[in-house]
Amino acid sequence: MEKIMMTTPLVEMDGDEMTRILWKMIKDELLLPFIDLKTEYYDLGLENRNATDDKVTVESAEATKKYGVAVKCATITPNAARMTEYNLKEMWKSPNGTIRAILDGTVFRAPIVVKGIEPCVKNWEKPITLARHAYGDVYKNSEIRVDGPGKAELVFTAADGTETRELIHEFKGAGILQGMHNTDASISSFAKACFNYALDTKQDLWFATKDTISKKYDHTFKDIFAEIYEAEYKEKFAEAGIEYFYTLIDDAVARVMKAKGGFIWACKNYDGDVMSDMVSSAFGSLAMMTSVLVSPQGVYEYEAAHGTVQRHYYKHLAGEETSTNSVATIFAWTGALRKRGELDGIKELMEFADKLEKATLSTIENGKMTKDLALITSLENVTVLNSEDFIKEIRKTYEAM
Ligand code: NAP
Ligand code: MG
Repeated sequence: MEKIMMTTPLVEMDGDEMTRILWKMIKDELLLPFIDLKTEYYDLGLENRNATDDKVTVESAEATKKYGVAVKCATITPNAARMTEYNLKEMWKSPNGTIRAILDGTVFRAPIVVKGIEPCVKNWEKPITLARHAYGDVYKNSEIRVDGPGKAELVFTAADGTETRELIHEFKGAGILQGMHNTDASISSFAKACFNYALDTKQDLWFATKDTISKKYDHTFKDIFAEIYEAEYKEKFAEAGIEYFYTLIDDAVARVMKAKGGFIWACKNYDGDVMSDMVSSAFGSLAMMTSVLVSPQGVYEYEAAHGTVQRHYYKHLAGEETSTNSVATIFAWTGALRKRGELDGIKELMEFADKLEKATLSTIENGKMTKDLALITSLENVTVLNSEDFIKEIRKTYEAM
């Protein structure tokens, strides 16, 4: 069989622990035998980040800007324990944070839906993709604990020195205060990323805030989305046969519970944090959740939503068998390969991605899966496979197709 040729390299960001082990198995078993895989390799494993003073992370993000598509393995975000474990020079920042800051992206998370793993919400037939604005609001706030009576005001000093004041509250006793912000530029980027992703995936886009209560703050989100939609996307949406609609966050929550799925739900930063955890757990498993960072310039970085599965890695190091689910990591690769194929006009690459995804899902639907899924599946008589055998089983299914 001839291998599928690629013209432009994918930016490959290798990572840590159990996912690094899966990464190599996926390449060896599921990609290299079928594709003349071209990648520009960046080792984002913690040891190499430490050795390069984390320059490798910045370089990988720059390469992503240059080539347009990256695939990333889960990586350790160092904490105090990791400082000693890896003898680190510094507590390096989260690679995802660094990459997100360079690409200025929005993160889209979608569950991988498969027969046998039913969502808790019975009417959810299709995945719900969550788009989270990853800048500002309560994540960049200033807070004051007020000890006693006094006047709290919001003050903005313009560049020319003019002050605008707004009374927050006359405190009669102790209390709390919080100040937060966002920028038109960031909200616009968020809006464009959402509109582009909706067109890309041919799904309706829902957006919701609390603009009835927050008449300036949340209302600005609503207005910026509406302006950009009217000016740049309305016709494209009509052509694609998809819809954009705005509603209040409480109405959105109620509708989501009654919906069939198959749409993108755009959320402000805090709403997105909370709702993505709710949606992903309701769909079944973190190991069945994909994640893609999309920049307003149309640069894509695909990854799994879960971490490096540290507990399994220690078992692996101790020579014990692991049953780690590789589905989200496989889908990160297929997402990136499909996008590369689309950008370079390589139909075979796009078909390969579709087929490998199908083979992965069929393997599970045929009752062969890792332990995490076996624990929640509605299928009977399932076979629990170890990390490696699950990947090999997917290869068998693929080859049989
Ligand atoms: P995690 O790696 O997502 O794992 C948490 C638990 O979820 C695991 O112990 C396992 O449960 C289950 N799990 C997650 N993925 C699984 C899979 N593919 N197959 C089977 N079970 C899976 O989160 P963590 O343990 O909190 O974090 C570990 C490291 O990952 C940390 O250093 C963190 O910084 C990093 N992290 C990276 C990213 C990223 O790069 N995007 C995201 C999150 C965390 P059981 O042990 O019960 O089987
Ligand atoms: Mg959260």
